[in-house]
Amino acid sequence: MARDQLRRAVIIAVGSELLTPDRLDTNSLFLTQRLNELGVSVRCKLVIGDDPADIGAALLLAIPKADIVVITGGLGPTEDDVTREAVAAALGLPLEEDAEVAAAIRSRFAARGLPMPATNRRQALIPKGAAVLPNPNGTAPGLWIERPEVVCVVLPGPPRELHGMFDAAARSRLAPAAGRRGIFRRVVHVTGRTESYVDEAASPVYSRWRSAPVPIATSILASLGQIELHLAARAATPEDAARALDAATGELEAVLGRDLVSSDGASLEEVVGRLLRARGQRVAVAESCTGGLIASRLTDVPGSSAYVHGGWVAYDNAAKTAQLGVDRG
Ligand code: ATP
Ligand code: MG
Repeated sequence: MARDQLRRAVIIAVGSELLTPDRLDTNSLFLTQRLNELGVSVRCKLVIGDDPADIGAALLLAIPKADIVVITGGLGPTEDDVTREAVAAALGLPLEEDAEVAAAIRSRFAARGLPMPATNRRQALIPKGAAVLPNPNGTAPGLWIERPEVVCVVLPGPPRELHGMFDAAARSRLAPAAGRRGIFRRVVHVTGRTESYVDEAASPVYSRWRSAPVPIATSILASLGQIELHLAARAATPEDAARALDAATGELEAVLGRDLVSSDGASLEEVVGRLLRARGQRVAVAESCTGGLIASRLTDVPGSSAYVHGGWVAYDNAAKTAQLGVDRG
């Protein structure tokens, strides 16, 4: 291992479509969760188009900030997939055809009775000295490149391929040199209160946990109708984290009482569903201005037909009196 400690990561998501209003970089969310669990914190994320010069510049910008740079996307066989070449050029490494990778790609096509298109040969070009990460769900191999100044991991863009490759090949290479403590998260939902009320009630709890043996950092996020407390515990094992998070959320339950909806990340509608099931009750809704929103949220929960009878949206006053018996006055 070029570096014996991998603590700080930069993620570079490559793909011109990620710079349009139509596509969002979600791969970095998956990667952040996995890296955090290994004790690696993400210092910065960059989203770059399919341009070799921009990809190379992003990598050179990332290297001084990181022990590990994870690049995702642009490993495919088509002309717009230029990540492999851009990374090799930025690191000053020549590309060489890897006979094993070429054979593996050829046999993937042969298994479907197809000849390998010439364009796919590019996917067998590997920067000198890089290790190949096998792709269980596609043709593009990933790359693990160790340099004195950084470890650079290059993974495919399609989320299924990225997830499979990270879990099968990248995680085990990272784990021995990653942080001794992982970061484990939990979300607490509060409803019916303002952000400042929740902050004031909860801050004695989270200021105590900030410097506990298993420290927990908390951030408070407000959205329409609810407040979320995001707890992040740094712990050596998932079990240590779970114990600390259970204790901290128990204290939050004590100070927030019935305003606390859930301390395991469950949404308001999931909690309503759990309560209805536990009591053997069913619900029907009659809505006006919400236009069916309440029924929609209730039925978003898998299995909700067990306790949702149905709903009526009566918008016009005549409909309200005729269908729902609302008093005309
Ligand atoms: P391919 O062989 O499919 O070309 P690739 O490694 O070149 O693989 P891309 O071409 O960059 O990957 O992307 C393939 C698909 O994966 C596209 O649908 C793209 O939108 C999606 N994708 C790529 N990067 C991301 C990302 N960061 N977050 C979410 N989806 C992504
Ligand atoms: Mg592609």
